[in-house]
Amino acid sequence: MAPLVDPFGRAITYLRISVTDRCDLRCVYCMAEDMTFLPKRDLLTLEELDRLAGAFVRAGTRKLRITGGEPLVRREVMSLFERLGTRLGHGLDELTLTTNGTQLARHAAALRAAGVRRVNVSLDTLDRDRFAAITRWGRIEQVLDGIAAAKAAGLAIKINAVALKGVNEDEFDRMLEWCGEEGLDLCLIETMPMGEVADRSDQYLPLSLVRSRLRRRWTLAETDYRTGGPARYYTVAETGRRIGFITPMTHNFCESCNRVRLTCTGTLYMCLGQDDQADLRAVLRSGVDDAGLDAALRAAIARKPKGHDFIIDRTNRPAVGRHMSVTGG
Ligand code: SAM
Repeated sequence: MAPLVDPFGRAITYLRISVTDRCDLRCVYCMAEDMTFLPKRDLLTLEELDRLAGAFVRAGTRKLRITGGEPLVRREVMSLFERLGTRLGHGLDELTLTTNGTQLARHAAALRAAGVRRVNVSLDTLDRDRFAAITRWGRIEQVLDGIAAAKAAGLAIKINAVALKGVNEDEFDRMLEWCGEEGLDLCLIETMPMGEVADRSDQYLPLSLVRSRLRRRWTLAETDYRTGGPARYYTVAETGRRIGFITPMTHNFCESCNRVRLTCTGTLYMCLGQDDQADLRAVLRSGVDDAGLDAALRAAIARKPKGHDFIIDRTNRPAVGRHMSVTGG
């Protein structure tokens, strides 16, 4: 089948699937404290998620990332990983996930057995009290245990940290050092204006500034290493590990966008920072055959917008109303 190509000539080869809107943490920049979650009937079943993933792989998707909410809190999620894993080598090159790590100790070995080789673990701080404050109630020990279990299971780990002014900006030297000691890569992310949360304009920290501060202590050499995503990577001479920077605010990377995002209700978002969407649950539940499903994917990709226009200013208005937990980043 012809690969999916959008109106701007970008081949869509990467699908991110959010399997639940629920999370066991409430990171202050991501969710409101009193989130209302979806009723179960609105969610795609694991069979439906697998069928949609299969349609994307038929249409040229080579990489799947499972996210959330927190993907590892969805019941029976490991059976989805197992099914998706059978597509590796049959069109699919990589199956991976983004997790907060709290449930990783339980699932690391099964993830590896399903064919996962790399995981992204979100961790914004190494400080116990700060972790509890950012996540509203999380226990950092759970995440550190999860990371240890993932390492023991042979998974490569990248730590994702959102850079927050006045919250964790004094910690990046220590985090880089710790990642070096633990054999992990680190990726810093600028906070993006998604969903109504407390004032974001106070927390926005440009990574250009963070990088120049890091350079006082570390030798960062630019690399052309890419993981098919928007991060720009540098090698850290002192640790031999990599550090990546994702800068949606200071550098618009939409020209090389290769991805779309499916929510747990089957809504396909064509851009993280726009509202363009397609209701694939309705298509699925209309009893469509595979050819009809493929046509629906094509029609959706034909509407992928050129890019986002994130801006954080004093008005504190989000670029899109949905929280990051809807699409999983
Ligand atoms: N629960 C999983 C986790 O913690 O990785 C997956 C979903 S979480 C929404 C995915 C990533 O989005 C996390 O690294 C989180 O820190 C990040 N994130 C959430 N809200 C964000 C925002 N407004 N700007 C930038 N990153 C955000």
